[in-house]
Amino acid sequence: MPGTAEVPGTCIRVMRAPWLTRFLFPVGMLAVVTLFVARMPVVPLAQVFPTLTPSPSATAVPPTSTPTPTPVPTSTPTPTPTPVPTPTLIPTPTPGPLPDFAEVPILMYHYVEDLPPHADRIRRDLTVRPEMFEAQLQYLAQAGYQTITLTDLYLHLTEGRPLPEKPVILTFDDGYRDAYTVVFPLLQKYGFVGTFFVLATPADYGSPRYLDWGMMKEMADAGMEIQGHGRDHVDLRGRSYEFLVYQILGIKEAVEYHTGRPVRFFCYPSGHYDASVIAVVRSAGYWGAVTTAYGRIHTRENLYTLQRIRIRGSDTLESFIAKVEGR
Ligand SMILES: [Zn+2]
Repeated sequence: MPGTAEVPGTCIRVMRAPWLTRFLFPVGMLAVVTLFVARMPVVPLAQVFPTLTPSPSATAVPPTSTPTPTPVPTSTPTPTPTPVPTPTLIPTPTPGPLPDFAEVPILMYHYVEDLPPHADRIRRDLTVRPEMFEAQLQYLAQAGYQTITLTDLYLHLTEGRPLPEKPVILTFDDGYRDAYTVVFPLLQKYGFVGTFFVLATPADYGSPRYLDWGMMKEMADAGMEIQGHGRDHVDLRGRSYEFLVYQILGIKEAVEYHTGRPVRFFCYPSGHYDASVIAVVRSAGYWGAVTTAYGRIHTRENLYTLQRIRIRGSDTLESFIAKVEGR
């Protein structure tokens, strides 16, 4: 049919209307729309398209780096630092080459007292009579020997600290009561220092044959060295780790508690030790340990197997001198 057009998909039949209707209808619609738009309130674009404006995020992290201020050049000249005068009165120790070894006789004593009646062969061998002991001290003093400690020997080997010309170390094992009643006053008489390897259990139980804690404290306060020999006098070879810690660390802590001074050296009971014993001695914080093996040459490599010279009850003054002199 002419005059009829069908727009595909719209189904609007406007072409049939008379021309006035076809003219007025769009004009009217335009006027209505114009009026409607003119009466609309002006809406900010931000409200029309709210997503276009970035909104502050609640989780935004403020910047952590503060801006570096621009350095302002100062017109004041920086003052020249005044050189600090180097003190010349106190000599600075010059670290020298460490010694390869040190030759120091470490004498080993046990009892220093009159022999008890019916003493057996072992007891006689371990016991030096007080008169002989004093004759030995007299000889050392007259021959120019100076007593040092194991700490002195250690610092000489590890730091190069100097030793006296004729050093000697006096050690006394087991902490018998005569260490306080005989040895201690004689050492003080000659201005000597002694090193005493003590036990804890006899002191804890107040055994009259051994040093008590008060005696050890008095001796330590007077400059004597109180060191560790084990809580008890037992063979430490083949023992459990816990047992070794109890004996080796236990005596260290007990002596340090009662004397207020550090314990740095250990004495293997009866001279017996194995690799586990040395390992626990090291880990407990000891700097070294002495054996009963014979010798007078010490190195950094054998700090935990230091050798000594046994002084026997059968020694004459001549044999004593020969041992000290290394003849
Ligand atoms: Zn012993």
